[in-house]
Amino acid sequence: MNRKIYLDNNATTSVAEEVYSAMLPYLKEEFGNPSSTYSIGKDVKEDINKARSNVAKLLNANPDDIIFTSCGSESNVSAIMSAVRSNPDKKHIITTKVEHASIIVTMGYLQSIGYDITFLEVDKQGRLNIEDLKNSIREDTCLISIMLANNEIGNIYPIKEMAKIAHEKNIVFHCDAVQAVGKFKIDVKDLDVDYLSFSGHKIHAPKGIGVLYIKDSKKFIPLIFGHQEKNRRGGTENVPYIIGLGKAAELILNDDFEKEKELEELRDYMEEEIKKNIEDVYIYGDLDNRTPNTSSIAFKGVKADELMLVLESFNIFVSTGSACNSELAVPSHVLTACDANLDEYSPIRVSLGKYNTKEEIDTFIKTLINVVGMLRRR
Ligand code: PLP
Repeated sequence: MNRKIYLDNNATTSVAEEVYSAMLPYLKEEFGNPSSTYSIGKDVKEDINKARSNVAKLLNANPDDIIFTSCGSESNVSAIMSAVRSNPDKKHIITTKVEHASIIVTMGYLQSIGYDITFLEVDKQGRLNIEDLKNSIREDTCLISIMLANNEIGNIYPIKEMAKIAHEKNIVFHCDAVQAVGKFKIDVKDLDVDYLSFSGHKIHAPKGIGVLYIKDSKKFIPLIFGHQEKNRRGGTENVPYIIGLGKAAELILNDDFEKEKELEELRDYMEEEIKKNIEDVYIYGDLDNRTPNTSSIAFKGVKADELMLVLESFNIFVSTGSACNSELAVPSHVLTACDANLDEYSPIRVSLGKYNTKEEIDTFIKTLINVVGMLRRR
């Protein structure tokens, strides 16, 4: 059997060797509780704060403005619930139709308790219209929550411009940056967002560790109360995972996004070769403004779930949408929002990672040409 070729890095990434090694001592000998006042606790606390500094550097944030959470979803929900609880008289929220499930489901809950939610539409390329945002703002809008990069089609949204519009009207702005961090440079001071979320397992740290950037902690109401994280997130810190995330951030900083530039070239090469060799290919998303690793690509008449299964039999792993909803037999809400013709063009999502090689991509292309041909002949 061939070696596994993993091309689903927007779903999750492998833990980097360096991250794994950095974590190991904290699963064994460095077991102290960071809240303890004796040395084995204090040493661990210091190490956590080094990790915090690396994570802060990745976002150009102050280390004090970073809290560790259990995942990207928790960061998203914490930011949203803080914004609504700190402004109880305002009952209107603006978000988009293409957000991650952790946002959409939270909005559904808020709707059920009386909030009015505006879900901004996107066009066929998945782009948002800034005028729509401006026109949706109301006297009682308490929060705007919009993602920086989309998990399925890779679109990058103009967060700086949208946060400015929010602040002109005194509205809190939250940004889900789970699919953006590590893929391009992010500067929270330049974006001027109030909250920004991301997740370790998308950047070669383990699953189960997230980050929330909080611009003004005085205005933040925690989701989990407790004294840790300067009273902003209760619960004894997940020390090994925080250390792992700090290492993952350091690897990105040391690399200075060189790998991501190479990834973009590899993704573009892959798309060009596919288009040269297969007829009737359609690529979803804003092709001029996407994350460097993502390709949502469809082959006329070929069902994405069948294609995914046949590719799996060749040990090649892609997805048909976000991992979070791929178990449900419902069309992707992102592609539906793009008014996609899913009967003719149902896409697979190919998302590259920094450990993918050109050889792997060549094997994928060769296999894909054969498999698409075979499925079309059937
Ligand atoms: N937001 C986006 C855009 C995502 O793609 C994901 C995960 O796929 C999340 C949030 C949730 O992150 P986590 O899996 O750490 O909860």
